[in-house]
Amino acid sequence: MNKITVIGAGHVGSSVCSSLLNQGLAEEIALIDLNKDLVTGEVMDLSDASCILDSNRSIKEGTYDDILDSKAIVITAGLSQSLGVSQGRMAGLTSCLKIMTSIASQIKERNYQGFIIVASNPLDVMSYYAYKLSGLKSNQVIGTGTLLDSARAELVLAKELKVLPNEVKTMILGEHGSHQFIASSLTTVKGEPLLSYLEKKKINEVKDFIDGIEKQVNRYGYSIIEKKGATYYGVANSVARIIKAIQNDEKIVLPVSNYVDDVYGIKDTYLSLPCFIGKNGIEGIKEVRLSSNEQEKLIEASSYLHSCIDIKVG
Ligand code: NAD
Repeated sequence: MNKITVIGAGHVGSSVCSSLLNQGLAEEIALIDLNKDLVTGEVMDLSDASCILDSNRSIKEGTYDDILDSKAIVITAGLSQSLGVSQGRMAGLTSCLKIMTSIASQIKERNYQGFIIVASNPLDVMSYYAYKLSGLKSNQVIGTGTLLDSARAELVLAKELKVLPNEVKTMILGEHGSHQFIASSLTTVKGEPLLSYLEKKKINEVKDFIDGIEKQVNRYGYSIIEKKGATYYGVANSVARIIKAIQNDEKIVLPVSNYVDDVYGIKDTYLSLPCFIGKNGIEGIKEVRLSSNEQEKLIEASSYLHSCIDIKVG
């Protein structure tokens, strides 16, 4: 039985359930939230949707005992996204950590040994605490990280360069937040390295061009929230993509938030790097050649994330 527990039944949690059921990645979902009416309503609505597609896939109101036979736990519990528009994704950090502490203690109490996928913001800090507080090994705790930002970067680059999104391959690395950056040295357009593609297209102000792309990617989520209150489909499919890679033992490389210790001089931090994802969760960080400027940005991201962790829990 492929069972998954989803914690948090808000915009993101309910969309995760919808993605998992529609894509056939869960036979049973247990949904948990402090708001019981919300869970009941979502379970009724999602049960309808799932029954139309395949009546063998089901969703129910869960309790923490449901994690015992779950292959994965998805954590989406958190604060309203509108807070982030004015204050950034680190908004309400202390409250977020309280939420993660209460969830992780339930997981640890039950000596759970599956996977945790974290979607809640501030993403890298919440992933770090999920790892530190749950008792799981770091390969079992994965943050959706910059998987979503990378998709956004492909869309933005494609629009700016007037090519199709599937002709652009890129990764955003670092923090899922303001300390993220585009890995230009890993970016290709129509199979050609970005920098030589820009040269051919006579785009001479390369730094300005890349800074402009990064700004647009960074603003992308906030623009959605300003218009419709929250973003959820993209992160839901990011969760589904990670779970699919684990289930199928794909060994695919995805930019996800993972425990980084002694890589590029970074210690004891969760942030996004290109990771191999397979049946053991995170099966390694792919060695990539980042430029010195990109390495600096990565170290800046890790220092920033460290400062958030130290201040709030030290
Ligand atoms: P929401 O307000 O719609 O839902 C959050 C839910 O969490 C609420 O229903 C609340 O009752 C529940 N909750 C709070 N504390 C809980 C606890 N201790 N146990 C169980 N449930 C609890 O928010 P949302 O729009 O669904 O966003 C959820 C989280 O996802 C936020 O942190 C948001 O910033 C984050 N997010 C991440 C990404 C990403 O790319 N990683 C994208 C969008 C949103």
